[in-house]
Amino acid sequence: MNDLCNSEFSRDIQLDIKLVSMVAPVYNEEVNVEELIQRCVAVGESLDSDYELILVDDGSKDHSAQLITEAANKHKGNLIGVLLNRNYGQHAAVMAGLAQSKGDVVVTLDADLQNPPEEIPKLLEKSSQGFDVVGSVRQHRQDTFFRRSASKVINRAVQKATGVMMSDYGCMLRAYHRSVVDAMLACHERSTFIPVLANSFARNTCEVPVAHADRSKDETKYSMMKLINLQFDLLTSMTTFPLRLLSVLGGLLALAGFAFSLLLLVTRFIYGADWAGEGVFTVFAILFIFIGVQLLAMGLLGEYIGRIYHDVRARPRYFVHKVVGCE
Ligand code: UDP
Ligand code: MG
Repeated sequence: MNDLCNSEFSRDIQLDIKLVSMVAPVYNEEVNVEELIQRCVAVGESLDSDYELILVDDGSKDHSAQLITEAANKHKGNLIGVLLNRNYGQHAAVMAGLAQSKGDVVVTLDADLQNPPEEIPKLLEKSSQGFDVVGSVRQHRQDTFFRRSASKVINRAVQKATGVMMSDYGCMLRAYHRSVVDAMLACHERSTFIPVLANSFARNTCEVPVAHADRSKDETKYSMMKLINLQFDLLTSMTTFPLRLLSVLGGLLALAGFAFSLLLLVTRFIYGADWAGEGVFTVFAILFIFIGVQLLAMGLLGEYIGRIYHDVRARPRYFVHKVVGCE
């Protein structure tokens, strides 16, 4: 597969990468942590730039935190462990890692080794060319049919809502420029879906094909309920359209009810009361109008709630890439 990069971008944002941060959330990954560290360190050493590996322990109940602490002592300066006091979820953990990172480019990846760290240099190459968000598309995805189909539907929806063409939002192996990371850190909302949030600040995005490994040593850390929660985070972080949908539906229903009652009135005059089921239909028509009006009102409330939601999140309105012409 070819790289999916939008080719139109100005050369002024080419980046000289001095420090690369790798951020991985860890939740009950004791079987993977050691290999993850070893492989990430190997990749880091092979880079031209400096690197830091940030492992965020998301309140694991196994020995992950201990392993991270030991490794941080061993690789002083290169490995930073951020230990959260309890489980806050993958995206919150990544945010904690982003807050700790200092790199010019920050690469996020999963700790379960499904995203091979060896693919990182590919992403960094694109980052240095000026793509401020570099995504990745999993080749020969090693997940169940259900997970793959769910992903497809979600990717479509996100593309529609954000207007940014990216084909694989589920893959966390991504590279972000410092400016995008700072923008994300300035967002105050609690439920975040990082790839989508990043895209709302991205100027030039790009996707590269990467390998996807099987989760060979253990199982996914996402239960069905967590997965459903994540989808709601994704939906609400992108759009308040569902709130508006209420008023649209309500309006349509009220109109239909109104049209129906008109029709009933006319036919009643023409064919008499018998035809209209002795008024049963009329009751339905009136009911429709009322339900419609109620939905419309709820939609209106929704509009206000949507605005409150936007303001409470207090996302930065814009992000300046550069100011020129002043000292
Ligand atoms: N993870 C986390 N907190 C959680 C659930 C998951 O930090 O509450 C981490 C997990 O350790 C892994 C990454 O998020 O590094 C992705 O999780 P997983 O591989 O289970 O998800 P999947 O690959 O099944 O989407
Ligand atoms: Mg995984």
